[in-house]
Amino acid sequence: MESSANIRKLAVFLDRDGTINEDPGYLYKPDELVMIGGAAKAIKELNAASIKVIIVSNQSGVGRGYFTDADVEAVNEKLMRLLAVEGASIDAIYYCNHHPDTACQCRKPNTGMMEQASLEHGIDITRSYVVGDKGSDVELAKQAGAKSVLVLTGKGGSELKTLKRPADCVAKDLSEAVAWILKDLKAGR
Ligand SMILES: [Mg+2]
Ligand SMILES: [Zn+2]
Repeated sequence: MESSANIRKLAVFLDRDGTINEDPGYLYKPDELVMIGGAAKAIKELNAASIKVIIVSNQSGVGRGYFTDADVEAVNEKLMRLLAVEGASIDAIYYCNHHPDTACQCRKPNTGMMEQASLEHGIDITRSYVVGDKGSDVELAKQAGAKSVLVLTGKGGSELKTLKRPADCVAKDLSEAVAWILKDLKAGR
C-alpha cells in the first residue's frame, strides 16, 4: 500500500508580477494588467501535464497602504480571465499583504505560503519548483527545499547579478522555464 507521502503531488509555484504579467511596480488596476508573451501557453502546458500551478505573490502595497486586498483580488481575477481565454488555469493563489517590516512568515523568501499550499493541496514541496524574477523567489525555493528557476522577464536581469545563491535554472521567460521543468521531470532528477 502506498503511504500518503507518496501520493503527495508536486507543484510549480509561480511568482505573479514580472513572471506571468509585466511588473510596472505596485500593480493594482486590472486594466493595467499586461500578460508576458507565452506565459499563458506555458501554464497551459503545466495544466496538460497534470502539474498543479500555484501563484505565490508578495503584495506589500496593501501593508504600505497603497491599495487594498480587493484591488489585489481584482487583478488576480482579471489574470484568471485572461488565462482562461487561452485555455490555461491556476489551481490556487496565495499572496502576502504585509508590510516588509512585519515579521510575517508569508512574505517571500519566507516559506509560509508554500507550507499553507502544501497542507491545503497535498503538495510535496521537495519535489516542487519555484519560478520567479527575483532573488526572493530563488531564496524561497532554497529555504523550502524546492528547485528554483529565475526568469529574466520583469526584474530578472538585474536580480541575476545580486543572487545570494545561484538558481537551478536561469530562463529567458516562463515558456523557457516550463520547458526546463518538464525536461527536468522527465530526467527524473
Ligand atoms: Mg516578481
Ligand atoms: Zn506576510
